[in-house]
Amino acid sequence: MIRDTNKHKGLRNQLVAQIKRKGIKDENVLKAISKIPRHLFMDSGFIDFAYQDKPFPIGADQTISQPYTVAFQTELLEIIPGDKVLEIGTGSGYQTAILIELKAEVYSIERQKELYKMAKKFLPQVGYVPKKLVFGDGYAGLPESAPFDKILVTAGAPYVPKVLLSQLKIGGKLVIPVGKGIQVMTVIERKGPKKFERHEYGDFRFVPLLKDSNK
Ligand code: SAH
Repeated sequence: MIRDTNKHKGLRNQLVAQIKRKGIKDENVLKAISKIPRHLFMDSGFIDFAYQDKPFPIGADQTISQPYTVAFQTELLEIIPGDKVLEIGTGSGYQTAILIELKAEVYSIERQKELYKMAKKFLPQVGYVPKKLVFGDGYAGLPESAPFDKILVTAGAPYVPKVLLSQLKIGGKLVIPVGKGIQVMTVIERKGPKKFERHEYGDFRFVPLLKDSNK
């Protein structure tokens, strides 16, 4: 396996400076990005692209999200150590690692078997051990482990699945890009059993959240 070198660390610091200029302020999020070797989450043929602020293909027609987008979503989550977090769309596991670095207890669901298997093997190898990785359909959430303090959707959802709202603790928060083609970054806070507050944070572009897992 390709290791983490000083060259990679240098490139990572430049990336952190760049996403800071784009508006990310949360020091813990910036620290997590400066620490985690993103190149190890990508195919070794493409490590030169690892520290550009761009999404990149990871197989199965999916991408590792753009670092700025990862930082933006993570900042919105306002992770407190010990938070129980459900991630939908494990993909490369990079966002999963960021959440674990912030001391969240992470449950993550992926519908592409190949990516699920890869993340399951790879994350512990780099020292990031999620509470649970699940092969399945994120539209259903994870009822057996609910409720969650935070839920993060890392693919573009055509609508907000009601099931996910029902799996939030009171005071909990869902971060989800909503829309077809272009998505509006949306945060929904659960204020009471039936009371939800919605805020929007601008346009992003994600791979789509797909129905039905390919089991
Ligand atoms: N967090 C990932 C982002 C990957 S892109 C990373 O940092 O690499 C979004 C991921 O969502 C893809 O891996 C895709 O396969 C997955 N996905 C799409 N629809 C899904 C669904 N219904 N349930 C679970 N995962 C889904």
